[in-house]
Amino acid sequence: MNSKVSIIKCESYDTALVQDSVTRAVDLIGGISNFIKPSSKVLVKPNLLMAKEPEAGIDTHPEVVRAVIKLLKKINCSIYLGDGPSVWGSQIEDVDKVYELSGMKKVCEEESVNLVKFDKRRMREGFPLSTWLDQCDYVVNLPKFKTHDLTLLTGAIKNLYGLVTGTFKTELHKKYYASKDFSKILVDIFQEIKPALTITDGIVAMEGDGPATGGRLRNPKLLLASSDCVALDSIMALIMGIEPEAVLSTKEAAKRGLGAADINSITVLGEKLEDAIQEPFLLPTTSITAKIPRPVIKLAMKLIKYHPYIDHNNCTRCNACIEACPAKVMSMKNNQVVINYSGCISCFCCQEACPSAAIKVKKSVLARLIGL
Ligand code: SF4
Ligand code: SF4
Repeated sequence: MNSKVSIIKCESYDTALVQDSVTRAVDLIGGISNFIKPSSKVLVKPNLLMAKEPEAGIDTHPEVVRAVIKLLKKINCSIYLGDGPSVWGSQIEDVDKVYELSGMKKVCEEESVNLVKFDKRRMREGFPLSTWLDQCDYVVNLPKFKTHDLTLLTGAIKNLYGLVTGTFKTELHKKYYASKDFSKILVDIFQEIKPALTITDGIVAMEGDGPATGGRLRNPKLLLASSDCVALDSIMALIMGIEPEAVLSTKEAAKRGLGAADINSITVLGEKLEDAIQEPFLLPTTSITAKIPRPVIKLAMKLIKYHPYIDHNNCTRCNACIEACPAKVMSMKNNQVVINYSGCISCFCCQEACPSAAIKVKKSVLARLIGL
């Protein structure tokens, strides 16, 4: 398999600059009509994790979304845009807030695009996926360039998890909480959806305890494009200073023959990869166990633990973490969020759902003693 990934330098989110950069990124790999048949129905899937302004660097930037919409309009496509944000369970109305604050509502109004909600599902290969997948001919995938506390990075493959509807995300997190198992289901979902084109927004990226308010922003000033999600995530990993196969979803997808993870099987176009590679990204605190030799891990694993803890000064008592917790071990007592640690599975769904950076990572004594 020889896959193409384009890398384009883009200094800012200036509308014209992003439009030009996205067009060049797609043209380098063959042009929009190479992936999307003119006049078809297209579902555009950005990463809209939570209701935050574009400057927070958490959601795909609206100018990247606008640039992709304009490309699709040039070939007369009918465009539908949506995501299933981290507003779990019964709070479907909060999706409006995510669309509003992230800038998606404004872009869709200005560009006359249908902004849709993933409130109906159909079981596909065991996953309840949005029926908008049935109603559209193609998916254009627009991930954000970020670290992720469970999967190491969140890119092309992970972004598709947003197509799982409502509370089922929580159920899947609960059932597949180990990162290896969770990565496998991410690949199952990717295998079922297979986006036609992916463009990663790495103009502003996130390192550290991503993918939400716990992470730290940095500026790679890059856009990446490919029709091969595995190759795209591999190149993104290399830019971050991570071996592609250290990302378990990349490893699993490559094993299944769904794309190229080996750099020798990937043609990089645009910027040279060596010029795009940055100072290694700060990895999530929880990912450091991946670097310890296996025999040591076996002995130490029981004593090396990470748990969330609440920074009560930042907490606004919004309840989002309580509703997100798949193990139902969080509650509000005396106007404070409390965690019953005996049932905590360390999935960090609560941290991902917190809009106020009020959930931090607590390390066990051994983890701190050996400097993890
Ligand atoms: S408290 Fe947080 S880390 Fe623990 S199970 Fe609940 S959501 Fe997961
Ligand atoms: S910890 Fe975060 S998500 Fe939980 S109630 Fe406080 S502000 Fe809301």
